[in-house]
Amino acid sequence: MDSTQKLVIGTGMVGSCCALYLQRAGHSVTLVDPHPPGSQTSYGNAAAIAPYACIPVNHPKLLKSLPTLMFGAERPLSISPGYALKILPWLFSFLRHCRREQVDQTISALGALLRHVEDASLTLFESAGAMDLIRRNGTLYLYSDARTRAAAQGDISRRRDQGMSITEVGAGEVHDLEPALAPIFAGGVLYNDGFQLSDPQQVISRLVKRFAEDGGEVVRDRVQSIEPVALDQVRAHLSGSARVFKDVVIAAGAWSTQIGGSVMDRLPLDTERGYHVMFPDDASMISRPVGLADAGFYLSPVGGGLRAAGTVELAGLDAKPNPRRLNYIEQAARRALPALHQRGDTWLGFRPTLPDSLPVIGRSSKHPSVVYAFGHQHVGLTLGGITGRLVQQIIDRENPIVDPAPYRAQRFLG
Ligand SMILES: Cc1cc2nc3c(=O)[nH]c(=O)nc-3n(C[C@H](O)[C@H](O)[C@H](O)COP(=O)(O)OP(=O)(O)OC[C@H]3O[C@@H](n4cnc5c(N)ncnc54)[C@H](O)[C@@H]3O)c2cc1C
Repeated sequence: MDSTQKLVIGTGMVGSCCALYLQRAGHSVTLVDPHPPGSQTSYGNAAAIAPYACIPVNHPKLLKSLPTLMFGAERPLSISPGYALKILPWLFSFLRHCRREQVDQTISALGALLRHVEDASLTLFESAGAMDLIRRNGTLYLYSDARTRAAAQGDISRRRDQGMSITEVGAGEVHDLEPALAPIFAGGVLYNDGFQLSDPQQVISRLVKRFAEDGGEVVRDRVQSIEPVALDQVRAHLSGSARVFKDVVIAAGAWSTQIGGSVMDRLPLDTERGYHVMFPDDASMISRPVGLADAGFYLSPVGGGLRAAGTVELAGLDAKPNPRRLNYIEQAARRALPALHQRGDTWLGFRPTLPDSLPVIGRSSKHPSVVYAFGHQHVGLTLGGITGRLVQQIIDRENPIVDPAPYRAQRFLG
């Protein structure tokens, strides 16, 4: 075994991009996952590469609406009261990060990563021969009434301050852009830099194929724990074997903190569950992802049909899918697109989320060979490429493309 070998745990969008950037820098890399590439949270999302997405779910207005979210009818965000009790410290921390000052810090730290998304992602997509799976038509984001649209102006300005290219869309222009939409919207915005993957899992499969063709090792197994061996080496325990690596990247999405071992910090990772409902016959009904601001999800035309994907549910990794959430999405999708046909498959996914809605990208405080790359919440598909680049630079101790300070694990460690 090469004593400089790197291990990347997780073949979601984040892990796959980390593995490729490390390989491109000349390292010998192993990629491990018990599941096929891109088959977990990176599979069923809204498929939008969203360089404009710097506004976190934590929001000053969220504090006021908490009681209705916990006990009210189905809404974009729902919290299971039983689970809320289980995760009280996470929830308090999440709510503390709803203060204006904290939210502004998150916006600027996300913005710093998002400005590099296009270059960092497309470099890999091109090298993997996946450009035929990219559609560039912007992303439309709509408000259902004038009041919510007016209330969003502050956030639209904040996105512009981060350098995002945004065109205002009046109520009358919505039909010109997407004629199948019902005339129920008060207008919105077109995020000009937004683009889309027609099949996220297929893109990730091609990334991993390129990685393997260029000499990377792909192992179908689960990492149970990681233990120190020397100052610059750790041992990863897989289900049936143990192997020593110089550096290990933890990119296991919402399951990252389940990996055991004394080299792992205790980090407050939880999950914002989200769903999708497919309409298999309706892929060509719209020509770009359309975000429904008030309903909390996207309508996204993908390979297998029209995908209505999003909403947030705080209920943990183990609770069964909640059919009420799926019905809520279906009904709201039909209000927006009355000509939708039969509903098809449904899906539940697990966004990995830390209380300040920023990922952890950086070294473990317990061992320098362990580098975290998880917690990308609503934008992991978007941030995979730039995260991979930053992880490689951290491991190689190069000048980083983005100041990594806001993403350090140490922000949660007393
Ligand atoms: C409904 C919904 C809509 C979304 N829409 C968008 C969108 O439009 N745009 C966007 O940018 N983001 C979107 N997201 C968020 C995005 O999907 C996630 O942030 C992203 O997929 C996370 O990627 P990941 O690689 O960190 O995790 P994952 O894709 O979950 O990959 C983690 C991998 O780690 C593996 N793993 C876990 N434990 C171990 C272990 N012990 N050993 C080895 N392997 C392990 C898992 O098997 C898995 O394959 C959406 C999410 C949801 C739920």
